[in-house]
Amino acid sequence: MYDYLIVGSGLYGAICAYELNKKGYKVKVIDKRDNVGGNIYTKNVEGINVHVYGAHIFHTSNKEVWDYINKFAEFNNFINSPVARYKDELYNLPFNMNTFSKIWKDVYTPEQAKNRIEEEKAKYHVDEPKNLEEQAINLVGPTIYEKLIKGYTAKQWGRPCTELPAFIIKRLPVRFTYDNNYFNDRYQGIPVGGYTAIINKMLEGIEVELGANFFDKRKEYESCAKKIIFTGPIDEFFSYKYGELEYRSVRFETEVLDTPNYQGDAVVNYTEYEVPYTRIIEHKHFEFDTTSPKTVISREYSSTWKLGDEPYYPVNNERNNNLYLKYKEEADKLDNVIFGGRLGQYKYYDMDKVIASALDMLKNIK
Ligand code: UDP
Repeated sequence: MYDYLIVGSGLYGAICAYELNKKGYKVKVIDKRDNVGGNIYTKNVEGINVHVYGAHIFHTSNKEVWDYINKFAEFNNFINSPVARYKDELYNLPFNMNTFSKIWKDVYTPEQAKNRIEEEKAKYHVDEPKNLEEQAINLVGPTIYEKLIKGYTAKQWGRPCTELPAFIIKRLPVRFTYDNNYFNDRYQGIPVGGYTAIINKMLEGIEVELGANFFDKRKEYESCAKKIIFTGPIDEFFSYKYGELEYRSVRFETEVLDTPNYQGDAVVNYTEYEVPYTRIIEHKHFEFDTTSPKTVISREYSSTWKLGDEPYYPVNNERNNNLYLKYKEEADKLDNVIFGGRLGQYKYYDMDKVIASALDMLKNIK
């Protein structure tokens, strides 16, 4: 008999396992995949740590979280500075002086950039933006919207910007300095040795069963522990009784190439609609000590999720958020099951927020 059965060995599950084991509880972790780590799993290919389920760049402004994760790994000084490719043009992201001065050849200073954006916006400005298109044009004007936002966003979310909520674009900074750092956070980096090593360290000395789908032997698993920490999709836990929550899925086409350097950057976004993938990740550029003569790249295709696909992004629109609340009400009635992580809580969590939420939950367990 276990004190806790943890379903899912991703970041949330692994932190719970580590902390509960440390507190003296008897813990077991199961995962339906054949590897631990959930979507932060990295795999060594040709001496390169490949982010198998999409690029994971650790960034946070929360010192407690940063100190916590640094107990499990050393972080390098990687700074995410993606490049956007639109047809035969290349631009720096996020939107900053490098972007503006390349888009408008007569813009050199922050003042000129601001004036130019104001001029462009003046013609199209709406007081209360109703959708992402209006919000984006209000923010940076129509030229940048057309080249760098319109196609990329439509590909990522599977519908035109006029049908998407304005808040999505608020994730992206606009800066009037020559600073290509994609994030505004105080701390940033990639763990030396990959993310899987972090998870393995957390799970040291803990019983882990891989290739074990909770739903295949639900009765057995439910009766083997006093409590369950469930990090899978919350709607699946309740057998979709109120209907399915919507997710976006991603498909990766990964290739090993016989060249030491394919694109010169870890992330290149393809912002025109006609290119079917959203971005290409070149994994070796997340690290600085890779001497591999080869390289590994992943083309990322965004897709509509259907039952049986891997869920990646929750689609937090009104319909889904309301549906989630119905499931959450059910979840709150169960005093022996805790729901956590991106899928358990249906939130577009970054890694630091997952850690903070796990540590927060664990504070309530003596
Ligand atoms: N975005 C864009 N062009 C880009 C990159 C991002 O228009 O080149 C917009 C797009 O609407 C996207 C949002 O910014 O949905 C958030 O992008 P982010 O890179 O934060 O998404 P993630 O890395 O989580 O997939």
